[in-house]
Amino acid sequence: EAKAQGRNVFAFYTEKLYSNMLNRIEMEAELRKAIEEEQLVLYYQPQFSLNDGKLVGFEALVRWPHDRLGVVSPGEFIPLAEETGLIIALGNQVIRMAAAQQRQWLDEGYRIVPVSVNVSVMQLVHENIIGTLEDALEDFDLKSYYLGIEVTESISAEHLFTIRETLQTIQAKGIVVSIDDFGTGHSSLSYLKNFPVDYLKIDQTFINGIGSGNKDEAIVRSVISMAEGLKMQVIAEGVENRNQENWLRQFPEIQVQGYYYDRPRASEHCVTWIKLAGQQ
Ligand code: C2E
Ligand code: MG
Ligand code: MG
Ligand code: MG
Repeated sequence: EAKAQGRNVFAFYTEKLYSNMLNRIEMEAELRKAIEEEQLVLYYQPQFSLNDGKLVGFEALVRWPHDRLGVVSPGEFIPLAEETGLIIALGNQVIRMAAAQQRQWLDEGYRIVPVSVNVSVMQLVHENIIGTLEDALEDFDLKSYYLGIEVTESISAEHLFTIRETLQTIQAKGIVVSIDDFGTGHSSLSYLKNFPVDYLKIDQTFINGIGSGNKDEAIVRSVISMAEGLKMQVIAEGVENRNQENWLRQFPEIQVQGYYYDRPRASEHCVTWIKLAGQQ
């Protein structure tokens, strides 16, 4: 009986793998088409200053509205985009979409806050991202401060020098540089010393555990204190409840982002936050 069960399990996995392989090829073709036809959209999640609750920025998060699959999350297609090199075209498009959105909000008379886009390490290494950012700022007539980039901490040693140079140029232009998912990568402390960084975004896995007296609190406390020493600002990512917020209030200078405040939303919905901020 156990043997039969084993065979079934095996058959199941083979079938699943096979269908995943088909999916992969299909997905790649469809993603390529979605990029070419500019079907990807950006959702925006607000970021607030903790002490006064003021809106201080948005993070742009890409979505793929798909006719059969619904709205596909980046976790499901960014890895594929990175493996296939599509990330370059996708990443350039994301930067231009964020800039176009800022221009639209400006034209509509709203008070503007910076929008940060996530960039893949591949963009920093293999692509003229500086040119893309410059063109976007120029074409949409934006101050550099209106755009930021978020780079995850996992930067391999071989690209360290290139990436540092690139980030330095970007930061020197006045574009805000954030290190994303801080604390989960393998690069860590020695990099920070030499990296041009404006913001550390503490990964949500650490924020998850705070407010209940565990080790995450010690880690978050240390990261905030270190960031202060390095003259970097801190954003706590993934704040989901009042309990976590209350604990974070001992550090009023930080910024917060998470479902407790709002989820990422299409631009026509998150504009509500800009309207509210205009009245502050
Ligand atoms: P990230 O940059 O660390 O973005 C934060 C993720 O956490 C987002 O997921 C966001 O929706 C989610 N999040 C926000 N608040 C909360 C919360 O309170 N609780 C929980 N559990 N989650 C929260 P999303 O939008 O699915 O994006 C996932 C990842 O995909 C991003 O992580 C980023 O690494 C990547 N990504 C998104 N857009 C882009 C893009 O345009 N280019 C590149 N290269 N990567 C992107
Ligand atoms: Mg991010
Ligand atoms: Mg993150
Ligand atoms: Mg992440």
